[in-house]
Amino acid sequence: MIEICAVGGYNEVGRNMTAIKVGDEVVILDMGLHVEKYVTYSGDEEAEKLGLSDLTRIGAVPDDSVIKEWKGKVKAIIPTHAHLDHLGAVPFMANSYNAPIIGTPYTIEVLKGILRDQKKSIKNPIKTLNPNSRMRLTKNIEIEFINATHSTPQTVMVVLHTKEGKILYANDYKFDAFPVIGKTTNTRRLRELGKEKVAALIMDCTRAREPGKTPSETVAKEMMRDVLLGTENRDNLIILSTFSSHIARLSSVLEMGKKINRKVIFMGRSLAKYIEAAEKIHIVKFSKEAEILKYGNEIKKRLRKIDASPQRGKYLLVTTGNQGEPNSVLSRIATGELPLKLRRDDQVIFSCNVIPTPVNIANRDILEYKLAQKNVRIFKGIHVSGHASKEDQRDLISMVKPQHIVPAHGDIQMTSALSELASEMGYSLGKNVHLIQNGQKIWI
Ligand SMILES: [Zn+2]
Repeated sequence: MIEICAVGGYNEVGRNMTAIKVGDEVVILDMGLHVEKYVTYSGDEEAEKLGLSDLTRIGAVPDDSVIKEWKGKVKAIIPTHAHLDHLGAVPFMANSYNAPIIGTPYTIEVLKGILRDQKKSIKNPIKTLNPNSRMRLTKNIEIEFINATHSTPQTVMVVLHTKEGKILYANDYKFDAFPVIGKTTNTRRLRELGKEKVAALIMDCTRAREPGKTPSETVAKEMMRDVLLGTENRDNLIILSTFSSHIARLSSVLEMGKKINRKVIFMGRSLAKYIEAAEKIHIVKFSKEAEILKYGNEIKKRLRKIDASPQRGKYLLVTTGNQGEPNSVLSRIATGELPLKLRRDDQVIFSCNVIPTPVNIANRDILEYKLAQKNVRIFKGIHVSGHASKEDQRDLISMVKPQHIVPAHGDIQMTSALSELASEMGYSLGKNVHLIQNGQKIWI
C-alpha cells in the first residue's frame, strides 16, 4: 500500500509539500514557502526572524502536523527545483526531520545561498543527484531524477521506485523542445515509464485551465529581441526586470545586450544570489561579460555614475522588481529613492507576468503609474510561462499512463480543471483521480 499525504499546495499556489509513505518509510517531496504570506506578513527582513510556529500559523509554510506520526520514518527530503515555493521552507522545517536533503546541484547551491543569507544552519546531510540519474535510498526505495524544462535550471520530476509500485511526482514542468539553457524534458524516459506501470502521477495543475501548449522559452527570447532590436531606443536608458531565478531569461538579456552594444548590469540581492549559484556549478558565466551588483551601496554608486553619464544609451540595466515589490531596485528608481532620474522615452521592459494576487496587482499598478508619470515607455508581458498548459498535461498523462492521478499545486479551480482533462482521457474522479486538500491522505 502507498499512502500519499497532501501537506501543502493542494488548496493554493504555493507552499508545496507532499509526503509519500511506502511500508514503514516516508519520502517528502518539496518543502516550499507561500512566498506572498511570508513576505507581506511583516516585510522580508522581519519574516526571516519569525519562528516556525509563527510561520505555520500565518500559512507561510506547510502545516506538517498532519504527518507527525510519520516524523521518525522520513528517509529523504527532496526539493524538485530552486523556486521558493518548492524549496524555501527547508531552512525552517528540515531540522525537525532526521533525513538528508537531496536535490540537483543547482537547487542545492541555491539552498546553500539562502542558508548563508538568512544566517541559518540545518543539521541534515545535503546531497546532490544529477538530472537523469538514480540513487538507492533504502533497501526498498530508489529515487530517480528525470530532467524537466521549467523556468529555473535543473528542475526534475522525481520517480520513487518502490516494491509497492512507482510514483511519479511532476510538480512544475513544461515540454519545451527548444530550451535556451539545458536539456529538454526527458520524454524518452517518460514514455519508457509508461510501459513500466506507474501507480500514481502527482502533477502540477497550475495552468490546467489554459488551453493549448505552453510556448518555448525561445519564444520569449524572440519577443525580447523584437523590443530591444526593433524600437527607437538608441539614446535612451533601458531597464528590464524578470524573475531572478530565471537564468535562461537572464542569459537571453545578456545576449541581446551585446547585440545592441550595451553594458549589461544586474542589480539586486536576489538576482545576484541566483546568478552566483548558477556560476558556481558552471551553468553560466555572466560575470565575465556583465556587472553583478548585490548590495545597496554599490548599486547607488553605480546608478549615480550612470545618471551623470552623457551616454545613457550605453546601458541595459536588469533589476529586481518585476512584480512591483516596493523594496526592489526598480520601484526605488521609480520613486526617486535611488539616484537615477528616469527621462522621457527611457524604456522599462517587464519580462514576466504578474502573479495574480491582490498584493502583486496593486504593487505593479503603483509602479507602472509612477513610471508613466515620468513618460517612460513600458513594454509588458515579454514572457512565456514555465508551467505546462492543458495539452502538455494531456501529453504527460498519455506518455506515463498512470493508474492514479493526483492534481497538485493549485486551488480548487485548477485541480478540478486537471481532473476534467483526466475524465476526457477515460479516468474517473473518486476512482482513479483524487482531488485532495491540504491535510488529507489517500491510499493506493
Ligand atoms: Zn517552479
